[in-house]
Amino acid sequence: MTDRIPTETDETNEFSEDEPGEIDPSRPSIARVYDAVLGGDTNFAVDRAIAAESLRIVPEIGDVGRYNRAVLGRGVRYMARAGIRQFLDLGSGLPTAQNTHQVARAAAPSSRVVYVDNDPIVLAHGRQLLAADARSTVVTADLRDPPSVLDHPEVRRLIDFGRPVGLMLLGVVHHLNDEEDPAGLVRAYLDAVPRGSFLFLTHFCASSPEAAGLERALLADLGTGRFRTLEEITAYFDGLELADPGVTYLPLWRPEEPVEPPLTVGQSLMAGGLARKV
Ligand code: SAM
Repeated sequence: MTDRIPTETDETNEFSEDEPGEIDPSRPSIARVYDAVLGGDTNFAVDRAIAAESLRIVPEIGDVGRYNRAVLGRGVRYMARAGIRQFLDLGSGLPTAQNTHQVARAAAPSSRVVYVDNDPIVLAHGRQLLAADARSTVVTADLRDPPSVLDHPEVRRLIDFGRPVGLMLLGVVHHLNDEEDPAGLVRAYLDAVPRGSFLFLTHFCASSPEAAGLERALLADLGTGRFRTLEEITAYFDGLELADPGVTYLPLWRPEEPVEPPLTVGQSLMAGGLARKV
């Protein structure tokens, strides 16, 4: 149970004692490469080189990031409409446009959001963004160690595990190798939340020769990761009740505008779904 849920009248955030770790500009980071792909300015030359290589392999890579951010908005609104008021955003990335707490608040102003990422740069920038926000926070933790996330004092402060939670794993599970047991990790988080909670997950999809090329490049440059098939991505939702239309390529997940077939390489580069624990 939470010790204390901040109220609407709280004015500032009290962050935990987590100190931002060292940011090494000579080594690429997933968060900074993604920021570069999205056109942000929180990245270094090593990150931009990987973003440029990704762009060479998949010229639509910037659009792919935007499809992922757009589906984040659609999925968070879906969960808010379904009554979810607390979100655990694992592998949340650097703040960009329309972050989870902003989308959730627009739909349900009392929403609470905890961002979790293992990159120190996310903590530094997240704190700036959330300094005046008592109902959102950012913590540094490695999602491969569920107890370190689930027992983190900031997570316990804002998330009541007796009530449904929106569990978000967007664009992150493809950075985990099979030996790290991604399915077991997803299950560990699902086991910690009650029925009525949601799993919202997006993932690079092994859908084309270009996807295979990008997977090889990211593995070489970042050291980990695997693109998975639609069937493998669907298996993360085993035992849950998938929202329509199930696990699909991102532009096809509850689009707000018509999508003309056939899908391009970029449109089918990521897939995902959203499902309720029953
Ligand atoms: N979820 C955001 C989105 O979909 O727009 C950001 C996705 S970004 C591609 C992946 C993020 O996951 C990065 O910020 C990276 O630092 C983080 N990440 C990768 N491995 C992680 C781990 N083991 N634990 C926590 N965060 C991780």
